[in-house]
Amino acid sequence: MGILKANIPGKYHVDERCIGCAICSAIAPQNFRSDHEQGYDYVYKQPDNEVEESLCAEAMDICPVDAIGATGTGGGISGRLKR
Ligand code: SF4
Repeated sequence: MGILKANIPGKYHVDERCIGCAICSAIAPQNFRSDHEQGYDYVYKQPDNEVEESLCAEAMDICPVDAIGATGTGGGISGRLKR
């Protein structure tokens, strides 16, 4: 699944499955931002402290379409099952 080019490079990313529900940017507003014109959310800042890291992990868990991935996991539920 293609990773959105809007993401700032790093551990977390949003891919093309995103439906723009804006849950992630509500959970981790320091790290995810909505692009209302494009209809998706993207990572605009990678977490740089434990609070942001845990909120990003929570957003990844909660994303309804498994569109948030983290380097090394393969993304979301499928990534966790692979480990
Ligand atoms: S929670 Fe998932 S589907 Fe919803 S905006 Fe964020 S990445 Fe997109």
